[in-house]
Amino acid sequence: MSLAGQLHKLQQIDLELQRKQQELYEVEDQLSDNKALVAAESKLASQKEQLKDERKRQKSSEWELEDLQEKVRQIESKLYSGTTKNPKELVNLEIEFRGFKSQIRSKEDALLGLMSQAEEIEATAKTTAEELERLKREWEQKQETLGHRKGEVEAVLPQLRESRDGLAQQINPEAINTYERIRLTRRQAVVKAERGKCQGCHIALPTSQWQRAKAGDLIQCNSCSRILYLE
Ligand SMILES: [Zn+2]
Repeated sequence: MSLAGQLHKLQQIDLELQRKQQELYEVEDQLSDNKALVAAESKLASQKEQLKDERKRQKSSEWELEDLQEKVRQIESKLYSGTTKNPKELVNLEIEFRGFKSQIRSKEDALLGLMSQAEEIEATAKTTAEELERLKREWEQKQETLGHRKGEVEAVLPQLRESRDGLAQQINPEAINTYERIRLTRRQAVVKAERGKCQGCHIALPTSQWQRAKAGDLIQCNSCSRILYLE
């Protein structure tokens, strides 16, 4: 195999190494990306907290209502037991009774409002919990698939490095240096020369260069400096 042919083969391995390394980064990135899951978890926690507060408000409203009802019962017993005979006192009791009754009505309305608010929050929290479960299942599946893929890539990488090193040892170090230098700025350091043109920059090669490349010399394109490879 010509020197350019060897470098071309080396480049194929290097490009494959790059692709696999990139794939590994991406897989690792996705494996650690649990943002959606964390967001759903914190959303659910805050909705549960909200529900707890709402239930607390509901409870204290119920107690206040019970107190009022107890007061009304006491006044009723005073009014109807016949123990209070003083007309002025009876009138006052009647006024108090009506006052408490109206307080009870507005308390009951408020309580209904609180209950329906709590129900709404409960329904929202239920939806969030379902969404969280779905995300968890997805996460587990993803972890499994990606974990598998990661294992595959991790197994291939050392094999590629080994064949890269094996091949590099057989190639003239000066040629490797040239190749590495070009690769610092070009994705492909070795390109095919076809129909008299460099396939990297598509500029026609002088006949003398073409002939030397054909003879197996290591030739770089005059215009883009890439190493020319003839099949
Ligand atoms: Zn060129």
